[in-house]
Amino acid sequence: MENKIYLTDSEMPRQWYNLAADLPNPLNPPLGPDGNPITPDMLAPVFPMNLIEQEMSQERWIDIPDGIQQLLARWRPSPLHRAIHLEKALGTPAKIFYKNESVSPAGSHKPNTAVAQAWYNKEFGIKKITSETGAGQWGSALSYACALIGLECKIYMVRISFDQKPFRKTMMETWGGTCIASPSEFTNAGRDVLAKTPDTPGSLGIAISEAIEDAVSDESGQTRYSLGSVLNHVMLHQTVIGLEAKKQLAKAGIKKVDTVIGCAGGGSNLAGLAFPFVNDKINGDDIEILAVEPASCPTLTRAPFMYDHGDIAKMTPMLPMHSLGHNFIPAPIHAGGLRYHGMAPLVSHAVMEGLISPVSIKQLECYEAALTFARTEGLIIAPETSHAVAQAIRSANEATKEGKERVIVFNLSGHGLMDLNGYAKYLGGELTNYELPQDELEKSIEMIKDQPKATVEK
Ligand SMILES: *Cc1c(COP(=O)(O)O)cnc(C)c1O
Repeated sequence: MENKIYLTDSEMPRQWYNLAADLPNPLNPPLGPDGNPITPDMLAPVFPMNLIEQEMSQERWIDIPDGIQQLLARWRPSPLHRAIHLEKALGTPAKIFYKNESVSPAGSHKPNTAVAQAWYNKEFGIKKITSETGAGQWGSALSYACALIGLECKIYMVRISFDQKPFRKTMMETWGGTCIASPSEFTNAGRDVLAKTPDTPGSLGIAISEAIEDAVSDESGQTRYSLGSVLNHVMLHQTVIGLEAKKQLAKAGIKKVDTVIGCAGGGSNLAGLAFPFVNDKINGDDIEILAVEPASCPTLTRAPFMYDHGDIAKMTPMLPMHSLGHNFIPAPIHAGGLRYHGMAPLVSHAVMEGLISPVSIKQLECYEAALTFARTEGLIIAPETSHAVAQAIRSANEATKEGKERVIVFNLSGHGLMDLNGYAKYLGGELTNYELPQDELEKSIEMIKDQPKATVEK
């Protein structure tokens, strides 16, 4: 049996898979300030029109342009590994596979959409892109993509991560990008937050407001904003992960996958691996698909499914998603990429349809899983990714109890070599578990209770 399954460049997928085409119930549309569905031209100051069209597309398969194919081929296809050393340590009959997205130059799955978005912006005549970053993975992925394509790149980085992960800023600058701690004094949104809470750790919701404000206030009209997760076109671009994985599993002789796992911040790495399997599930296959989130930011497991803004200053349209409220400031856990109040509408919708099941796991179990993984498979994974590994270990242990040879596939969304501060704290015994208290959750949701309800009929 092969333990690393590779594809050749010519075996890379030529099309992205769009789950929106196959959902049993149609997606709820995003709503504008007047409560009506938004039109493409309302998004035009924020995104280039070619990406807006993709955002709204109902086509099942969308061709990957040659230019993007060549950019992806700089590091893709990514390998699929069988975690034989982890299996052995767990003494499980389960077969555990992981898709290794940490092999990209920026160290995560995020360049898959960064190169596509940068390419479409360039095609549309844009000169500069602004964005936010949580743990710094997205900011570095976008800086990398902009360097390859020849665009200016400006990143607002959530304060807590800016302080915890200083080398991410250096990566962005090495690729020619600019990186600013958020909230900042550069925007109205940032100044507002600083006036009220000068010591805030920041949040993705604040940083998104700053980056959008920066983009739409460029009077030359040549700046656009880019989002690293959540939106439909981002989920779409990430599906190369699952499409490759299916080919690789077939090569490994796997006929049936039982469990597919991804950690979920905004939902994109999960969607990337899982959506092609969600398609199989819609068509009758019995597959368990698990979205794993931190207990400190329990969007899918505990927040309502409703309409909410993606950012604190309400600059984004209202999206139908599970949301802890756009004012929610998550606890400063080390999995910075999972500290987001909302969720991709496509992932939320799939949860409402019963196609994806959410799970939340506390920080210490995740770090313990990360150490087990490092000491068996050898890879030091991102704190975000440790949520997927913790669940893979839980699922394997269930298989052991049942004495079943389950096939488990998870997404190794990124390496943790820029996240060693978190490891150091864990190894030094300084980390604790933090579960969001019910009263805090209710207070945050109370603030959005008058916003429209979204529904998915079962
Ligand atoms: C950004 C990030 C995540 C979370 O974002 P999703 O959109 O939910 O994938 C997970 N893992 C890593 C390594 C990341 O960089």
